Amino acid sequence: MDFEYTQEEQAFRQEVRDFLDKNLPPWEQRGPGFMAEWLKKVRGKCWVGFSWPKEVGGGGGNIMEQVILKEEMARRRAPALGTCFMGLAWVGPGIIKYGTEEQKQRFIPEILDSKYQWCTGYSEPNVGSDLASLQCKAVRDGDSYVINGTKIWTSLAPFADWISMLVRTDNSSESKHEGITSLLVKLDSPGIDIQPIENMAGASIFAQIFFDNVRVPVENRLGEEGKGWEVTISSLANERSSIGEVTAMYEKLENLKELIKKARKNGKPARKDVGVRRRIAEFESRIEAMRLNGLRYLTKQIKGEPLSSETSVNKLHRALLEIDMTDFAVDILGQAGLQLSGQEEAVDHGRWATAALSWPDVVIGGGTPNIQKNIVAERILGLPKD
Ligand SMILES: Cc1cc2nc3c(=O)[nH]c(=O)nc-3n(C[C@H](O)[C@H](O)[C@H](O)COP(=O)(O)OP(=O)(O)OC[C@H]3O[C@@H](n4cnc5c(N)ncnc54)[C@H](O)[C@@H]3O)c2cc1C
Repeated sequence: MDFEYTQEEQAFRQEVRDFLDKNLPPWEQRGPGFMAEWLKKVRGKCWVGFSWPKEVGGGGGNIMEQVILKEEMARRRAPALGTCFMGLAWVGPGIIKYGTEEQKQRFIPEILDSKYQWCTGYSEPNVGSDLASLQCKAVRDGDSYVINGTKIWTSLAPFADWISMLVRTDNSSESKHEGITSLLVKLDSPGIDIQPIENMAGASIFAQIFFDNVRVPVENRLGEEGKGWEVTISSLANERSSIGEVTAMYEKLENLKELIKKARKNGKPARKDVGVRRRIAEFESRIEAMRLNGLRYLTKQIKGEPLSSETSVNKLHRALLEIDMTDFAVDILGQAGLQLSGQEEAVDHGRWATAALSWPDVVIGGGTPNIQKNIVAERILGLPKD
């Protein structure tokens, strides 16, 4: 593997740095209009959907440049390059890969313009890890599908405009992976009821969604009828790769280092404690291991190969790292580490307490650690099936 950057890549890195110097003011100077202005500017640079093809409105950038862009943005703690999180991470790539021309023209610009929020409807009350057993049903009726059933734990559903979901269109096949269809559904369609669920941290960012005779035009089907599993495998790889992305960990590590600078341990500044320093070094090494593992995917992508099971490695790694880093911060802070935003002794607006209660986002969301371990064991290490 060649770790050197080409001259073009170095020039691109400089371009991103110059842009950030000019357009990213320090936190305290960012006014209410900052985010809208930022989104307009990065869209103008074609940095939203940077590696997507130009024909659909993406930047047409190569994968290496995409990595550089993400690294520089993360280093400067820049805001996201778009607010349509799932749209950019896996719904959009799914539409580009499996969608019709009409679907690409219709949905991709809206994702790039941060216009609509997307959510993902896979899990059902009795269907999580064993996703292919899903029961939410859609029956073809003329030019529409009619959906009946429910989805649960749907992140962002209380705020989303669209859902990319899986339904069962055929029960007759012996293989449960057959007969699943992927549909793109507008969440204000008649017959949809969204019931927010409160999480441990007191936020209602996911929901259970009920579908009662919801009609969806056939043109909103993504991929072939009954072949939704293929679309899902590709989306899940993108989801796991985005959860396992190392750039997300840089900011957490920096926040942890800031915390150590102001915290005390055994009556002394925490930053002088050998045990504390050792843990920080350990986290830094684990993040570096994640980065190096990420380069494996990158090599695959540069060769034009699709992402697959290997994304489970960093997804698993990040889950454990998130828990360990947060537990460490809460331990250092003692009682104050348990206080949420608004409580008297809350530190950093309760960031660490919130993180300690939000671990299911990255640990369970996108598939549990046990499932990632099974994938690594069976599909990467070639061990016998579970
Ligand atoms: C914060 C959060 C956000 C989420 N967001 C979404 C979303 O946006 N969209 C969506 O569709 N879903 C979402 N989910 C649901 C998530 O994908 C499921 O919760 C997850 O896949 C686990 O399924 P389950 O809850 O049914 O648990 P189960 O599948 O019942 O698992 C229960 C336990 O059994 C273990 N287990 C199950 N099968 C095996 C096996 N074969 N081998 C070893 N162990 C096994 C699991 O690891 C787990 O510990 C979200 C969940 C959370 C917590």
